[in-house]
Amino acid sequence: MKFRVLALIFPFICVLAAGLFAQELYKPRNVKAAYAAGLRSKDGKPTAKYFQNSSAHNIKISVNPPSRYVSGSQEIVYKNNSPLTLDRLIVRLEMNAHAPEAARERNVDAKQLTSDVVITEFAENGVVRPWKPIIDIKGMSLNAIGLERPVPPGGSTTLSFRWVYELAEKPDRDGAIDPTTFYIAYFYPRVAVLSNVDGWDADQHLLGGHEFFNDFNDYNVEVNVPKNFIVWGTGTLTNIDEVLQPKHAERLKRSFTSDEVINVASLAEVRAGTVTAQTPTVTWKWRSENVPDVVYGLSDHYIWDASSIVVDKKTGRRASTQAAYDETSKNFAEMVTYIKSALEYASNDWPGIPYPYPKMTIFRGTADMEAPMMANDSSQEDPKFQHFIAAHEILHTYFPFYMGINERRYSFMEEGWTTAFEYGFNQKRFGQPFTDDLFKRIRVANWVNNNDPSADLPIMTPENAVSGLVQAYGDNKYGKAALGYLALKELLGDTDFRKGLHGFMNDWNGKHPMPWDMFYSFNTHTGKDLNWFWNAWFFSHGYIDHAIVDVRAEQGSTVVRIENIGGYPAPANMVVTFTDGSTETIRQGPDIWRVNMKEVETRVNVPKTVRSIVLDGGIFIDTNAADNKWPR
Ligand SMILES: [Zn+2]
Repeated sequence: MKFRVLALIFPFICVLAAGLFAQELYKPRNVKAAYAAGLRSKDGKPTAKYFQNSSAHNIKISVNPPSRYVSGSQEIVYKNNSPLTLDRLIVRLEMNAHAPEAARERNVDAKQLTSDVVITEFAENGVVRPWKPIIDIKGMSLNAIGLERPVPPGGSTTLSFRWVYELAEKPDRDGAIDPTTFYIAYFYPRVAVLSNVDGWDADQHLLGGHEFFNDFNDYNVEVNVPKNFIVWGTGTLTNIDEVLQPKHAERLKRSFTSDEVINVASLAEVRAGTVTAQTPTVTWKWRSENVPDVVYGLSDHYIWDASSIVVDKKTGRRASTQAAYDETSKNFAEMVTYIKSALEYASNDWPGIPYPYPKMTIFRGTADMEAPMMANDSSQEDPKFQHFIAAHEILHTYFPFYMGINERRYSFMEEGWTTAFEYGFNQKRFGQPFTDDLFKRIRVANWVNNNDPSADLPIMTPENAVSGLVQAYGDNKYGKAALGYLALKELLGDTDFRKGLHGFMNDWNGKHPMPWDMFYSFNTHTGKDLNWFWNAWFFSHGYIDHAIVDVRAEQGSTVVRIENIGGYPAPANMVVTFTDGSTETIRQGPDIWRVNMKEVETRVNVPKTVRSIVLDGGIFIDTNAADNKWPR
């Protein structure tokens, strides 16, 4: 079958169509005020008034499985880069989401419930004082504390804590994977993000639901465990020779420059007690810089593989790739290879920016959940699923982590991008039929088949206003948003799309872009006013429903009138069959809707009689296929 793109298609342009006039993007009042005050700019770049705060964390935790109590001591040096004097801080205690009293947006297994973290000691600038948050309710995943000494602009304050909490018996994003394998995440007090647009991030964390938002911080973390437990986590392990016996230390170090996958510790070696130092407890030390979070996994019976890969071909910089897993998770034996496959794609294809961290570890858990330099992945029967889920979590490195996305409000900027990159990854690794079939099934079909009135809420609906109990919450951030980015890629072509994406990522990495920053940044870096597209796909109630409403012969060609019932500028293949049995496939890109989003006429410029026409959206599944064909 032939495949022509442009030659056969002539949208009839109506000069009075609304689409030709510049469109603006809707902004809530506080966002509008931020633009008026010069806190944000319509060129999409950070302004001189942009600020973000940060913390330096020193955290020491002790764990002694099978006891699930995690005790910690912590110092936070919080730097105030804002122009405000802060007389109170919002401190986030995400682990309190496990308390029975906590707010919920989904059902939670009773074995995931524990209780509030107990803060046994609190000090401000070295002076011990009672921990008395302003809101005296249990299960608060954030709280405000008044400061004895307000923090002036440019100043800093030091908060010290001792705390203990119980890890949940049933694992999800954190918890006990088994009696002696723990995944420790969202475990330490931290200061909430302060923005000059939204103020304090005061959206509560809801267990297993809406995700996270953190400043870029530096961390020194020490994890103290009994001997023969191995610890994996975010950051660079700084005391390899203290925690590992020489043979295993040598294997790990060798993996940092090796293309081969090296087994750092086998199950038999772990069981024999020959892997870790043999003092009663061992303290594993990690250093991470400029990351939004840290997580740790530990076990006394996990296998450890490692290798490394060049992630920056210009400088030759390598990233360490590691996997930690139990013997029954058979496909994890290939996990290091999968990680390298994902890092290779991410660094060179899409987003095509060298992997920014020194390492990536995948730890066998149950959640399929990303963290900086770590993912907690379930065991999959199908090697392709194991491979692509690994890639998905690794691709999250860019959105939300590298790009500082507020996942509580705008997760279409992280799940959407990651799902679009995942599509490209699957195309390259597994081919088009597998990729399209999978994408339709797990990313698009649920939205298309969802007849609930919430299904077509604009993607821009602030997510703190959307319950995780409604399907639209997931559809908006995954499938709908990913399709939007893929349609944008087709609209711009790869070269301009890359200009827009890289321009945006270069301007905003390590910061906290809002959606308007992203939209305006793409406009600036591509030199195109894409507001018509942003409005249609991200700001409007809409869905994919195109209909062929009229077909007529005209001067040796055929004119096809297509109505855009759903309002989304989705691309489709128009498959034309002529009376002589021949066919033409004509791509209808998103651009045909630029001038008039409601209706378009396209010409099939072939001097033959048309017998039938079908509009096939492929992964852009049309919600009503019945009106996509002519004759009906
Ligand atoms: Zn994801």
